[in-house]
Amino acid sequence: MNLKSNQTVTTLATDLDGTLIPVRQTPEQHAAVKHLGSLVVEHSLQLIFVTGRSFELTFEAITKFDLPHPASILCDVGSTMWHRSDNGTYEQDLDYQQALLDRMGGWTNAGIQTALCERVERLTPQSPNQQTLLKCSFDFPHDAVAEVREQVAAWIADFDCPLAFTISRDPETGEGLMDILPVDVNKGSAIQWWATRRSIDAASIVFAGDSGNDTAAMTRGFRAVLVGNADEQLRAETRDAMADQQWLYLAEGHGPEGVRDGLMYHLEREVRQS
Ligand SMILES: [Mg+2]
Repeated sequence: MNLKSNQTVTTLATDLDGTLIPVRQTPEQHAAVKHLGSLVVEHSLQLIFVTGRSFELTFEAITKFDLPHPASILCDVGSTMWHRSDNGTYEQDLDYQQALLDRMGGWTNAGIQTALCERVERLTPQSPNQQTLLKCSFDFPHDAVAEVREQVAAWIADFDCPLAFTISRDPETGEGLMDILPVDVNKGSAIQWWATRRSIDAASIVFAGDSGNDTAAMTRGFRAVLVGNADEQLRAETRDAMADQQWLYLAEGHGPEGVRDGLMYHLEREVRQS
């Protein structure tokens, strides 16, 4: 990793559930969301949401929790991308969609569901509104995480599928969630695609997250914020991947309070060092 110490922060990329969305209904949590919105405006940052949610469920969260409207939404764990246009509406990035479809090696969502349900007993496909052309999602009991991980990896290897999976845990129910995506497509690669097209340097991006499907984005050379409620696996993987620990902020605050403190840390660092 080659991070320049005086690189200006230009972008806040944040996960939603467990991260930007209030984790408790307290005045402090909601105040932190508002404060983040002000910091984004004050520092002329680009705000992007990077989430496992669909575009529709992202908008539901924006309305329900009064979140600021982002410049782009990287949804479905980085497999779908929407950009805000000048009139405030969002348009899907069809170039991105086609680039990913070209990498599926002929596999379709329905084909993946059929093949995996036959092979891995503990998996249940999520509802149709959680499925996309590029993301195939399953639920499983979290006590089966080791066997699910092993069996899905074996299936991918046996058929040499150009696919990969991410596992995370539903913060509300505690149950397991698995997404199958084209290989090398994840929150990190989506942010990288977004940044490259805008000539934005990775070191100028602050990424905040809380769980397993954030690992790829935490370990890609962005500045990182781990919220106080982040799971242990993500903590360990992020710490190991960071060449320079000063680019990692381990927040004590949960959810948006942690994101706010982490963003302020990274903004202050550039002031002190530039
Ligand atoms: Mg999350």
